[in-house]
This record gives sequence, structure tokens and C-alpha cells, in this order.
Amino acid sequence: MLTRKEVSQLFSDSEHLLEALREANALTLRRHGDYVTLERAIFISWWCSLASCAFCYMAKQRKRLSSAEKAKRAPWRVVAEAELIRRLGWEVEFLSGGYGAYTLEELRLLAEMVAHAAQSKVWLNVGVLSGEQLEHLRGVAEGVTGSVECVNEELRSEIVPGKPLAKIKRMLAEAGEMGYSTGITVILGLGESVSDAHALLELIAELELDRITIYSLNPHRGTRYENSPPPASLYQAGVIAAVRLSFPEVKIISGTWVDQLPNIGVALLAGANGITKFPLFEMFGTRHGRKVEEEVVYAGRRLLGTFSDLEVLKGSRALEPERDPRRVFRRTLPEVSREAKQKLEHLRPRIERAIEEYVEKVLKNVSNKEK
Ligand code: SF4
Repeated sequence: MLTRKEVSQLFSDSEHLLEALREANALTLRRHGDYVTLERAIFISWWCSLASCAFCYMAKQRKRLSSAEKAKRAPWRVVAEAELIRRLGWEVEFLSGGYGAYTLEELRLLAEMVAHAAQSKVWLNVGVLSGEQLEHLRGVAEGVTGSVECVNEELRSEIVPGKPLAKIKRMLAEAGEMGYSTGITVILGLGESVSDAHALLELIAELELDRITIYSLNPHRGTRYENSPPPASLYQAGVIAAVRLSFPEVKIISGTWVDQLPNIGVALLAGANGITKFPLFEMFGTRHGRKVEEEVVYAGRRLLGTFSDLEVLKGSRALEPERDPRRVFRRTLPEVSREAKQKLEHLRPRIERAIEEYVEKVLKNVSNKEK
């Protein structure tokens, strides 16, 4: 693992940063190959019983929502999205929802249906789960994610007061012992300092994580960050490089919003394996979608999946096998219960309609932008 001094040099001396990028790039190609995955978190609810994180769009919506039940997305829409993700060769990064939106049984069934539709076991990012809850979900999910957001304890108590780090750590440690893969998400640009980057490395080491998602701040209107600039591209790249050089095997997903697309290339050179945080249906097939693809090409990487092929989106042509992560990574189909299969069968007409609606939305968007 890099020392505190080595991490700090990344942000104070551009020669060190350039050297770190060169090493991180070579290490990534050696250990992971040149693939880049397109990742998408599937939101399953707009509800969060905490609703206290300072940067969160959902926390701001909470006052307008009368109950967790009404804030849930329709299951056929969630499954439709998963089926489209599979069709396009994207990955389901995780199922994501605020705290307390679903009962365990509902979550279990939904995770199974999404796994079946996406042909890949899913990760969960649904708040802190107890040992008992993890036990109940065992076999359904591949991995569990803790939304750490930032590692600076003082800042955490101010901006994520409802998410004590100790509880997240306990969940991830228990999940790891039970055989789940584990990961965290962090957001850069929340007010942390570059000296916190080393504490992040210590956390990854302590929890022996398999995966980390490193987002750059997307300043939402109505939050205290609405006028904050997103973090510098080279800061995000420096953090990614520090993680890659310290943990050669960890999967790193870099998250950039649509206004930060030029950050993608350098994040990949720094060692990211996947990219995320895109509004899929607004960007697909547009110049923004193609821009993402170009960023990957110019970083010397091979993109799995497509962000622009309308024929694949419509289902009139299948994605080439060499661009499909399910084939490239030789995944076996997840096993799902009879109950999940029956429910999927029951929902099938509504799932098909929702897929059509999503496809039409993209086609309309593309045609409007081309006018
Ligand atoms: S726990 Fe997640 S969904 Fe809930 S307020 Fe915090 S960031 Fe938002």
C-alpha cells in the first residue's frame, strides 16, 4: 500500500502523478486486461428513512413522499431496465435504494428477478444490513456495498450523520465472512482534503474490499453543494491511481456525471475497470453516449457493451459476443427460485411494455437531438 507521503506527493507534484498514472495503467492492463465495463445502478425506490445526507437528491425529495410504498418503483420497470442492461452489454452495478424502503422478502424476490433478467447475480446497496438480514439474503446477492461517501470522520458527522462508519464496517466485515463480495462507494468533492486519500486506502485494506466505486460529486439543486464545482479530473485520477497501485486486484468503478465526460479517459489510465453514473436513457445514441465510447478508445481500452448502437437497443440485432461481459467473463446463469420465475412470468406483459417505452424514449430523444 502507498505510504501517506507517497499519496500526498500525487497531489503536490505533477511528475509523481504522471509516473503513478503510467504505473497504474500498466498494472491494470497486466492484472485486468484492457476491458472497460459500462455500469448502471438500478434504483428501486425513491424512499429513504434516513433522508439526512447533505448531498442527496433523494433526501430532498423525501418531504414530498408520503410513504415508502408509494416511492417504490414498479417491479416490472425495474426488471425491464435489467433486461435492457443485459441486451446492451452493460453491468448492473447494484440495486440501490434508500434505507428502509423494502421488506427483506420483497428485496430478495426483486434481486432474484433482476439477476434472472440481467443474467448476472446482483450486488445490493440498500443501507446497513444486520447479520440476520444478510443471512436471509445469502445466495441471492453476489455482493454487498456500503455507502461510505467520505472517510473524514469530522466531515462525515456533518454531512452523513445517519450513517456511522462503524456500522457500515461491521456489515461489510460480516458480509465478507459469509462469503459475499464487498465494496464501498465514495464521493469526491464533498469537502474532504487530499490528505484523506490515505485513510481511504487504510479502510480498503482493513475491510479487504473487492470493489470500490469512486464518484465525483454531482451537485444537486437544493442541496448545500448546488454551487460547488465537481472535483478536478486529476484529483479523481490521483485517488484512483493510489487505489490501483495499493490494491492491484480491486475492481475500481469511476463515476462521472454527464458534464464531466472528459474525465473518463484519465480515470481509465489511472486504473478504473468500469465507468458509471450516466443517465442511460437520456445519453444513449446521442453525442454524449458516443463521447463516452471515444474516451474509452483513446485510453487504449476495449469497451464492453454499447452506448450508441440503436439496433442492439431495439433488439433487432444482438450484441457481438466479444463485447458482452456475460460471455467475456464466462458467467454462469444465476439460479433463481421458482417463485421468482413465476412472478416474472406473471409480469411478462408489463415488462415487455416497459421495455418498449424505454426504447421509444431513447429513439425519440435521439431523433430530437438530431433535428
Ligand atoms: S442514505 Fe442514501 S438515500 Fe438516504 S439520504 Fe443518505 S445518500 Fe440519500
